[in-house]
Amino acid sequence: MFLERWSPARVGAAFTDRTGGVSLPPYESLNLGKTDADDPAAVAENFARLREAIGVERVVTCWQTHSSDVLEVDEDFLSGWRPGSELGAALPGQASLRKADALVTTLPRVALCVRVADCVPVLLADAEAGVVAAAHAGRVGLLGGVLEAAAASMRRLGATRIQAWVGPHICGRCYEVPNAMAEDAWTRLPATRAVTAAGTPAIDLGAGARSELERLGCSPVTSCEPCTAETASLFSHRRDAGSTGRQCGLVWLATS
Ligand SMILES: [Zn+2]
Repeated sequence: MFLERWSPARVGAAFTDRTGGVSLPPYESLNLGKTDADDPAAVAENFARLREAIGVERVVTCWQTHSSDVLEVDEDFLSGWRPGSELGAALPGQASLRKADALVTTLPRVALCVRVADCVPVLLADAEAGVVAAAHAGRVGLLGGVLEAAAASMRRLGATRIQAWVGPHICGRCYEVPNAMAEDAWTRLPATRAVTAAGTPAIDLGAGARSELERLGCSPVTSCEPCTAETASLFSHRRDAGSTGRQCGLVWLATS
C-alpha cells in the first residue's frame, strides 16, 4: 500500500503504490482515482483501507485540473465530510469535488490527498507552525506555479520553515515530449531540461519540482522518486496509454 511513509514530529506523510486494494485490472489494485472508469464502490473501499492504514478518518481530495489553484480545507469545508466524500459525485447523492490542484490545512487529523499517475505529488509541512499542503505538479501545474501558490498559502497561514517530500513520477528519460513543448518548459524552468534514452527532447518534472522548492526556500526536501513508467508497482498514465489508476501523496498533522 505504501511506497514510503514518514512520521516526523507532528506530521504524517506518505506516498502510496498500487498494491493492497480491490480494484480489478487495469486499475489493480489500490486505485484512488479514475472513478469515471473504475467501479466507484471499489475506489471507495480502497479509500476506506487507506484511512484505516494511516489512522486518519478524514481524507480530502480535489478535482484536479492542472491549475495552480489552492483550496484551504477548514472546518466549514469539512462540515459535510463523510466516508466516501473522497469520490465526490462518483457516488450517488454526493456533490462534485472542488476544483483545485493543491490543498492546504491547519487542522489536525485531516489527510490532504493528491492523485497522480506520472505527475509529481509534492507534500509540504511546517510542523511547528502546524500547516501542511499537498500539490499535484504535472508539467502544466509546475510551470504554472502550483508549488509557489501552495507555499504562499501556507505562509499566509503562519508557516515559516517548510519541509517537502517529492514523490514518484515519470522520469526525464521516459517523459518524451514534442520539441516546442520541451523548449517552452526548458525556457520557463531550466531545471526541467532532459533528453530521453533515445536522445529526443524530454522534461524532467522531478528536477523542476526540486528547483522550484529550492527557489521557494523549502528544505529539507526528501526525495522518493522512482519512475512511474518503469516501476510495475506504480500506476503510469504514459506507460499504460491512459488505462490505469491513480496512486496518491498524503500529508496530515498529527495531534501530538
Ligand atoms: Zn523513467
